[in-house]
Amino acid sequence: MFDGLSQTQRLARLGEVAGALTHWALPEQERHHLCVTMHHGHFQGAVKRKGDQALCARCLAKGASHEETVVHAVHECPESTEVWAGIARTWEATTSEPLDMSSPVLTVLGLRPRPSADAPTQARERFEAREPAWRLLHAVTLLKLHQARNRVHMAYHDPKGARDARLSKPKDILRAIRLRVTQMVQYERTKTTHAAKCEPKAAPRQKAWHRFNSHWLTTGIATLTKGGLRLNLLSAPPPTPPVPPGTILIRVAASLQPAKGQRPPASAWAMEVLKVARDGTQTTRLTARGAIAATATHANATNTRTWLKFILPDDIALAIGYTPA
Ligand SMILES: [Zn+2]
Repeated sequence: MFDGLSQTQRLARLGEVAGALTHWALPEQERHHLCVTMHHGHFQGAVKRKGDQALCARCLAKGASHEETVVHAVHECPESTEVWAGIARTWEATTSEPLDMSSPVLTVLGLRPRPSADAPTQARERFEAREPAWRLLHAVTLLKLHQARNRVHMAYHDPKGARDARLSKPKDILRAIRLRVTQMVQYERTKTTHAAKCEPKAAPRQKAWHRFNSHWLTTGIATLTKGGLRLNLLSAPPPTPPVPPGTILIRVAASLQPAKGQRPPASAWAMEVLKVARDGTQTTRLTARGAIAATATHANATNTRTWLKFILPDDIALAIGYTPA
């Protein structure tokens, strides 16, 4: 993980690891486990154990013998690889950021490749906005992999004879990760509610809710629904109602870019009209897009979402059957 790096790059990577260990989004239990993992402090592997005890019990049960180093246990072992593949899938589906899980720099150290300094500002901001969610997901995954490893190890070396460990399949581990991450995002939300009640008048962009939104909701990691907080990682997407055949389907989307400095707020809409044939095939009939006239009703409006007045273009209003009150 440090091979082929110059002294400067080595120091930079160590700095990133230190940053990961002290990140605010980590729960204390996961932080402690991450520290032990980074310092190779687990009671496993050939330096600390002898004979079969030094080998990976999961692989041993399948007749293969691998020394149980940290990299083997949480990166190379087939079950761990499968868990990371599941994490990469859900991360990409939720944030559209692909992750290459073949590198232990990502799985063991948890360092996502950073956008380069000349990347667009938006890409760098998005990377930073997702960092707390990634830190949390990574640290929880490492701990759950380790806990499953402990169950497998104990079961294999059971004095009464080797047996199968409970809840140690990749799907059990992924489920445990989902529950823990949900619990922690819920905790962040509770903290935010409390902070918003108690905080003195903070600058608009430093407010607790702004922070919560930008890290957990705008990134797509979680959604607030009527039923409460819903984690979008490792869960099935919300059901989309089926499109009845022989109808016209209209999709409309709008986006808003808040005002920044001298730049006024800007917003735009896009729509497509699809014809759904009797056999369910969809053909595009119309696509359209345009700017939405937006006016800031307060000169110093910072919360543009509240203070913007949208004017729905007439053709869209007609198409979606909206009649202004
Ligand atoms: Zn193994």
